[in-house]
Amino acid sequence: MTDTDGGSAQDWAWFDEPLGVGLQLGLQVESVVFRETTEHQDLVIYETSQWGRVMALDGIMQVCERDEFIYHEMLTHVPILAHGDARNVCVIGGGDGGILREALRHPVDRVTMVEIDASVIEICAAHLPSISNGAFDDPRTDLVIADGAHFIAETEKRFDVIIVDSTDPIGPGEVLFTSEFYGHCQSRLTEGGIVVTQSGVAMIQGEELTTTVRRLSEHFADSSAYIAPIPTYAGGFMAFGWGTDNPDLRQLPAETLAQRYGKVDIQTRYYNPGLHVGAFALPTYIAEYVEAAR
Ligand code: SAM
Repeated sequence: MTDTDGGSAQDWAWFDEPLGVGLQLGLQVESVVFRETTEHQDLVIYETSQWGRVMALDGIMQVCERDEFIYHEMLTHVPILAHGDARNVCVIGGGDGGILREALRHPVDRVTMVEIDASVIEICAAHLPSISNGAFDDPRTDLVIADGAHFIAETEKRFDVIIVDSTDPIGPGEVLFTSEFYGHCQSRLTEGGIVVTQSGVAMIQGEELTTTVRRLSEHFADSSAYIAPIPTYAGGFMAFGWGTDNPDLRQLPAETLAQRYGKVDIQTRYYNPGLHVGAFALPTYIAEYVEAAR
């Protein structure tokens, strides 16, 4: 196998992520920029030949400079523009700073980011600064180093939008996929609040999506999912869990979203109001995972 610029594949080192179901992701690596076993996980930042810098935690792809905009725009602007007047946003996880960066592009008062592993923030700020792009230093940012499940269970704060940008439901991320966690999210949301979650690649983690939607439905009047294709979360569409007590927020017309999008005047490379509406039109095989939760 040769790569597109003619070099023979065996000349390259590779970052390989087994995805299960007989599939793996492989990225040509030029160098290891940084590696550390933090208090919670093994963190590596690679310089790749054509996808920019990449960060992996416990061998699992987390963020890649070339395509991160898709994931961060969709997990942030869909709930915030659907809400329409989000002032207080909570990000659970999100240590690379990409969600924080996108949330701060809106006229929010505060963004509280609750990350369990301070090293992820420090290392990404130092070796992958393009992702946060200064967001950690924004005066509207409140950084909390804590387990997101503990934080949301104990905080007195209330949020208009909660964005769960966590690792997968293994290791420290596991508690962020429980019914109890979603119940606490519901009680910490203001009226008309929305919670969205990283819910894996449906072709590979479909049952997880069913479980997430079922657990959201135990606490919210409306629970569902929306999708986006992210090249380095290989295997097809990535799904995002959706929970809110206002079912109308999932059915907003593109005209309303376009007005709101125009007002905040942000330039995005993947998100647009028409695509926002379309992201909830699920392919049948993904809709079946969502319906299996009912
Ligand atoms: N976009 C990535 C994805 O889709 O897998 C996630 C990126 S972000 C780096 C994931 C973050 O979740 C990590 O920084 C990790 O430390 C954090 N995390 C995992 N479990 C957590 C918990 N219980 N509370 C807070 N943060 C947690």
